[in-house]
Formats: sequence, C-alpha cells, structure tokens
Amino acid sequence: MVDTAVTVVWNERLTTTAGRAFLRQGRIELNPRLLGKAPAEVPMVLVHETAHIAAFRLFGANIPAHGRHWRSLMRLAGYAPEVTHKIPVDDLRQGRRRYVYLRVCEQCGDRQLLEAPRYGKCGGCSARDSFLVMKAKAGPAGEAALQRLSLADVRAAFE
Ligand SMILES: [Zn+2]
Ligand SMILES: [Zn+2]
Repeated sequence: MVDTAVTVVWNERLTTTAGRAFLRQGRIELNPRLLGKAPAEVPMVLVHETAHIAAFRLFGANIPAHGRHWRSLMRLAGYAPEVTHKIPVDDLRQGRRRYVYLRVCEQCGDRQLLEAPRYGKCGGCSARDSFLVMKAKAGPAGEAALQRLSLADVRAAFE
C-alpha cells in the first residue's frame, strides 16, 4: 500500500524555485512570492512536486528526477511534463523595474537614460516626438549596453 499523503507548506525563504519536494518526508514547499505573482501556476507546480513524491514512492530513489516515471505521472495528472516554470524570475529580483530605456533625440542627439519611456518635448532642442527609444534589461549590464550605442546604432536599429 503506497502512502498517498503529502504535506504542503509555503516557504518564504525560497527565491527562484517555484516549489520543491522532500521525497522521504513527503513534503512540498511552495514559494509564496513567486506564486503570488502567478497564481494560475500553482496547480502545475503542485502537480510537478507531487509527481516527484509519487514517483519516489512508486519506483524508489534510483530513478532520474525528471525521467520517464515522473513524466508519465505528470501526463496522468493531465499536465505537460515541463521541467522549468515560466514565471519570470527577473521581475521579482528587480521589483517593478524590468527594463531601462535609452531615449535619443533624432534632431539634436540628446540622450537620456530613463526608467520608463517618456516622450513629448526634447530637453536639448525642444523638438517634439522626435525620439528613438531603445530598451535593455534593467541593471548595470543593460545600462552599459545602452550607453555604448551611438545615434547611428540607434538609427540603424530602426531601419
Ligand atoms: Zn522537478
Ligand atoms: Zn533634441
């Protein structure tokens, strides 16, 4: 007789994993921050972790974590056996700021690095709506990449 009970708890300390399973304890921990942003993913994550525990109880410890046993249990439960979740982790790490924007005025070349794209009037030449805007992932690498772009680079990107 296979034990069918599992314990499910929220774990505030989880960062980038949506959930994890402790096979021998029959325990599942879910990430409230991550799943709070994507509540529709909760059933899938729960089934994913439960399938790990079920696979362990049915087939033992010497099976690959995401091998055919786990995959067939996922399918039995009506889910695609996908290994990674699609919740955008970058959003969480950087709060609401996902992108940084470089706004270049086509008239005078005035460059502004912005946290949100703003249009309207150029501070350099007062031209209206003559901006080209490029975006990169928020963070030092994205900002550096934008700083390196010349007006010609930006123009070329819009051709
Ligand atoms: Zn897994
Ligand atoms: Zn300008």
